[in-house]
Amino acid sequence: MKETNMTTELFCLRCQSDTPHRLTYLNSTISKIQCLQCSRTHRVRVDVKHELYHELLERIKTKPIRITKEYKNNMSLFLKIFPRRVVNKPFRLYKEAKEMKTLIKKYSKRH
Ligand SMILES: [Zn+2]
Repeated sequence: MKETNMTTELFCLRCQSDTPHRLTYLNSTISKIQCLQCSRTHRVRVDVKHELYHELLERIKTKPIRITKEYKNNMSLFLKIFPRRVVNKPFRLYKEAKEMKTLIKKYSKRH
């Protein structure tokens, strides 16, 4: 789960003109639109559990295919890389879990 920002020009109702706006995304879903001139903020309700569910589902679905493809492409290289990946995984998962917890907390407050 990832939160990203993007700046773009949009029409602001309060400014009555095109102004730079900051768009915040949670994964690929827009969660916040803010006018950088007057700070008018429009929050979009994001179902954080729905986002999480789809992200995990996508990972489970794509992972076996990815491993099979790599395995077929270069078996010896795959075998060299594989053990290191297994070692790296707990840390990566821990980091992701921490980020996820922060985002779930942040988005759950809005409901
Ligand atoms: Zn504005």
